[in-house]
Amino acid sequence: MSALPSPPSPWKVSQPPARELADLFAAIDRHAAMLLAKHPNLLIPGTGVGGYAEMGPFKARSLVTLWREHGEWFGGSCPLCGGPARGLRAVGLLTIGGIEGICLSCGMRLARFAGGICRILEIIPDNLLPRVTPKNLNPDWGVVLRVLERLGEKGLTPSPRARG
Ligand SMILES: [Zn+2]
Repeated sequence: MSALPSPPSPWKVSQPPARELADLFAAIDRHAAMLLAKHPNLLIPGTGVGGYAEMGPFKARSLVTLWREHGEWFGGSCPLCGGPARGLRAVGLLTIGGIEGICLSCGMRLARFAGGICRILEIIPDNLLPRVTPKNLNPDWGVVLRVLERLGEKGLTPSPRARG
């Protein structure tokens, strides 16, 4: 087993906050155990691997496992408010790239440099990597919301912008 690459740079603020999106990911975080057990294949919009290694979105199982087991890369805390930060997407080119994330508390969108998409792919276990299939090209927040509502989440916004 090869040594893991050294940790990426700390989170930096990258874009204005996206409150509604943060609320959705906070709900996913709260229900991580239930999603792992009951909805592991739920596709999560706005996540995955993009750029050089364009792949589909992460499944719930992959996303919450990365948050839990690779917190050095996909977790941490917000540089602005100290709240929990969560990585959502690996983006970039061979040697220029990083992880985009969001603060679950203040909603600030974050990014951390991680030395290129290849380096990030090294730390994501093969069985957690997304795959592009016709079915997962455009995952729908509506589907995720219905699952979260069944888990008791109310008042989440149905169609936030996933990116941009
Ligand atoms: Zn914050």
